[in-house]
Amino acid sequence: MEKIVKEHKAVVAIGSNSGNRKENIRTALKSFASFCHIDKYSKAYKTKPYGNKNQPDFINMAVLIETSLSPTELLDKLLEIETHLGRERTIHWGERTIDLDIIFYDNLVIQTENLTIPHPDMQNRDFVLKPLMDICPDWEHPVLKKKARKLT
Ligand code: ATP
Ligand code: CA
Ligand code: CA
Repeated sequence: MEKIVKEHKAVVAIGSNSGNRKENIRTALKSFASFCHIDKYSKAYKTKPYGNKNQPDFINMAVLIETSLSPTELLDKLLEIETHLGRERTIHWGERTIDLDIIFYDNLVIQTENLTIPHPDMQNRDFVLKPLMDICPDWEHPVLKKKARKLT
């Protein structure tokens, strides 16, 4: 069998606040197997909605993955999973069956129209930082030059 080279590490934040939230997350994570190896899983946290507050609570978590995909290829896969799980982009920051955001990708800094890495608002979101404490507290933010644990 051909060996799959997984030379990059990345952190993906996951959120769901519509339908069967745990099941949505489980289904999404099952699809990860085709394009990455999941190294670490954070705990799952129940959190209050961010931005638009008039919606159900979220379940949030994050995973540390190894992949051979480029950042844009990884984003495409994540958006595909979101679509597959019935994600509809109607209201900004509205209810969603699944949201998959790339938080870190190696120590890369990327700023394009469709992709910003590190995720530009992660340092302001407890629902992202808390799961990171479980899986990568020592990951250094390549712009802020601080470890994840120091961003809270
Ligand atoms: P936020 O990015 O503030 O958490 P959101 O997750 O609700 O908001 P979405 O509607 O899920 O935003 O995504 C809109 C677009 O954001 C995606 O189609 C994607 O092209 C872009 N995007 C930019 N940077 C990232 C990233 N690091 N991870 C995922 N998507 C990103
Ligand atoms: Ca998001
Ligand atoms: Ca998103």
